[in-house]
Amino acid sequence: MIGSGIVDAIGNTPLIRLKGPSEATGCEILGKAEFLNPGQSVKDRAALAIIRDAEARGALRPGGVIVEGTAGNTGIGLALVGAALGYRTVIVIPETQSREKKDMLRLAGAELVEVPAVPYRNPNNYVKVSGRLAERLAAEEPNGAIWANQFDNVANREGHYRTTGPEIWEQTGGEIDGFICAVGTGGTLAGVGMALKERDRTVTIGLADPMGAALYSYYTTGQLASSGSSITEGIGQGRITANLEGAPVDVAFQIPDEEAIPIVFDLLEHEGLVLGGSSGVNVAGAMRLARHLGPGHRIVTILCDYGTRYQSKLFEPAFLREKGLPVPAWLERTSRIDP
Ligand code: PMP
Repeated sequence: MIGSGIVDAIGNTPLIRLKGPSEATGCEILGKAEFLNPGQSVKDRAALAIIRDAEARGALRPGGVIVEGTAGNTGIGLALVGAALGYRTVIVIPETQSREKKDMLRLAGAELVEVPAVPYRNPNNYVKVSGRLAERLAAEEPNGAIWANQFDNVANREGHYRTTGPEIWEQTGGEIDGFICAVGTGGTLAGVGMALKERDRTVTIGLADPMGAALYSYYTTGQLASSGSSITEGIGQGRITANLEGAPVDVAFQIPDEEAIPIVFDLLEHEGLVLGGSSGVNVAGAMRLARHLGPGHRIVTILCDYGTRYQSKLFEPAFLREKGLPVPAWLERTSRIDP
């Protein structure tokens, strides 16, 4: 296929059989390789879906500005798609996000606004700052501005409902027993979950929630509540976003970093997969779902983004030790080969 631009290279990612997790559970665990998208994350899909929806509604005009509050990956997707389609991108990001993601955002041409990381209820939370900024720029900019609003703009989950979900169904030939992933906006979980349930109501849809997020509590007790924390980025939601409303969640698991992070290291060391922390939560969730369903089932999860994005944190021994997490031996080993 000859694509007419990077937007044609978004999606249609392969499913990869995860050997270690499959062998450990007696199930077939497959990861959808979203790190192979042009912006190296699953969020390219949401970025494209949001931009196409705004264009179709006439809200985004040629030369217009796209404003968004993002932990990084959505911003990278918006900036790259924006560059390809002729839009400027302004990104509001919590200053705690990895240096690599901020560097990549600048490289992709985004104009960055860094703000302190404060909870959603605080009016200076990055999402709220981005909404106000979009409103101001919509009035000031000659070609207008839109707020991508990935958390509550359901164009996000519709993108997954139209692409990621049907791709998984086609790639497995409809032979799939479970799907599970973590939630940032909820676009992936809700969109894929709805697409799969529509085709086969017996597919089990699972939530893998990191510590510090409130959704495990919500789906098991009906109350939003959280405890603990996680070093993972891009996931860990404290409220029911518009994208999550009505998501067909059957089971939920709470995944501590101590369980998720070693999986990221194992997949790198033994399977050549370079992934970020949220993929570790997802694969840990897939293993929990495998044990919940029993051996012989086929489970799909999402490999969200590429690991080089986290070299200064997840793959930095000093950072891991500071967080009380185990450091794999190979990360510190230097070559013993005499040149
Ligand atoms: N993993 C990473 C690294 C992400 O950036 C995101 C999106 N914020 C997710 C997972 C979660 O995806 P979604 O927003 O569709 O819930």
